[in-house]
Amino acid sequence: MNCDTYLSMLETLPVEELAYGDARLHAATCRDCDRVTRVVAERERNMLMAYGELYLPGPVDAVAARARELSRRRRAALFYRIGLGLATVATVLFLLMSRRVVPTPTARVPVTAVPKIMNAPGPARATTAPAAARAVRATHQ
Ligand SMILES: [Zn+2]
Repeated sequence: MNCDTYLSMLETLPVEELAYGDARLHAATCRDCDRVTRVVAERERNMLMAYGELYLPGPVDAVAARARELSRRRRAALFYRIGLGLATVATVLFLLMSRRVVPTPTARVPVTAVPKIMNAPGPARATTAPAAARAVRATHQ
């Protein structure tokens, strides 16, 4: 076995597979291949540790149940938020409508319109109080 075949085996196989046979003999005799093998073994170990930290510590079912519970609570919170928003809008509208002053129709009649009615000829004049008093005085004299 030469260096090329050993390095091509190191490319494709895990380091533990090169621990016996001709590969082991070559790594024991060749300093360069031994150094490369140590570096590759160190990188493999680091990679396995990193993957070990990446995996979730708990079982998958518990994580899924927790996610489902969180989703259900978020949905309920959304409905509560919508209901509270509608109640707030209704309260504000009620307060605005109850504090609005409704103008009375008599307040819109201008004061200058009253003498025109009293001076008007016909039945409007006879029904006014001063005209009725004058008529009563005239009949008693
Ligand atoms: Zn070699």
